[in-house]
Amino acid sequence: MIKNLVLPFLFFLFINSFISAQDGARRHFNIPDIDGFHTLKADLHIHTVFSDGLVWPTLRPVEAWAEGLDVISITDHIEYRPFSKDVVGDHNRSYELALPKAAELGIILIKGTEITRKMPPGHSNALFVKDINQIDTPEWKDAFAEAGKQGAFIFWNHPGWKAQQRDTVKWFDEHTGLLASKQMHGIEIVNYKEYYPEAFKWALEKNLTILANSDIHGSVYQEYDLSGSGHRPMTLIFTRERSEKGVKDALFERRTVALFNGTYYGREEWMSKLFKACVGINADPLTSGEKSRSVEITNYSSIDLFLVPGKEAEKAGMIYRIELPAHSTIKLTAGGWGSEIAVKPGQQFGFMVENMFVAPDQKLKVNIRF
Ligand SMILES: [Zn+2]
Ligand SMILES: [Zn+2]
Repeated sequence: MIKNLVLPFLFFLFINSFISAQDGARRHFNIPDIDGFHTLKADLHIHTVFSDGLVWPTLRPVEAWAEGLDVISITDHIEYRPFSKDVVGDHNRSYELALPKAAELGIILIKGTEITRKMPPGHSNALFVKDINQIDTPEWKDAFAEAGKQGAFIFWNHPGWKAQQRDTVKWFDEHTGLLASKQMHGIEIVNYKEYYPEAFKWALEKNLTILANSDIHGSVYQEYDLSGSGHRPMTLIFTRERSEKGVKDALFERRTVALFNGTYYGREEWMSKLFKACVGINADPLTSGEKSRSVEITNYSSIDLFLVPGKEAEKAGMIYRIELPAHSTIKLTAGGWGSEIAVKPGQQFGFMVENMFVAPDQKLKVNIRF
């Protein structure tokens, strides 16, 4: 009897290990939760063979899971489907195909699409849509109106894309119209391998949600170097709950920060919370002296951070740019060798975080208490 079970059991083990092996491993790409919110890592602009992408939809959640993302949206073009002779499913099909795999891996998959029109208004993504086939309309205004009717969160894609705007990044009257009719809620300030400072400025001025997305067409491994802390552009979303509803609320309430090539871009409120979550500072009494104070600074995140000392910090002998490597602790002394002043316990010094932008020409200022 037992003997009869051995073979089927071994076969089961073999099949089981085969199934769990095919998705690979998820890397620990840590961007910590901030005070009161989950930090979800998202890419909300992705293509498949159902438009001009090169991969089958099920690969997208697998890639996202392996890279350490939490949320994705497959946003195939409605108006551009070069493989439509071979890939005959309707506009909802790429989402339907990817959904079971996303659910299995715990990736939040948001139903989305790219409304692909010439400039103006150019390309826009509509997320949380219900039936994409209804958004396939001859007039662009009808497409936006239908997406709006379905409750979509809509954002302007790659506003500085050279193919549509050769010499300039321009805001058109059509965009003012979309904003006024609440059919534009956000803007990509990063797309693929480009950052648009002008779009960052507009996002702050016009109160739009800030987004950074990959717009990948090939596999993520073809398009980005993921070795070390390499990563695709990500939109960090600060949610009250880890769910599609949580993501939707956060996007409409503009709780996002863009992460691109190891640099953050976002509103000061969220950036300063993010810095506090990434960095821990503890007094180091052992190496503190009579006129000097030392601290240990730990970077819990997967992104290296860089601090530039302010004027007062320089007077206390901290004259060099300070590197806080990912997942590491450094020691820092104020009032040590070369200091012009004696440093008291609890004294604070200002620094600028070199790779955290709160406006196109402004970096986050932080205080470190010694
Ligand atoms: Zn596009
Ligand atoms: Zn696209």
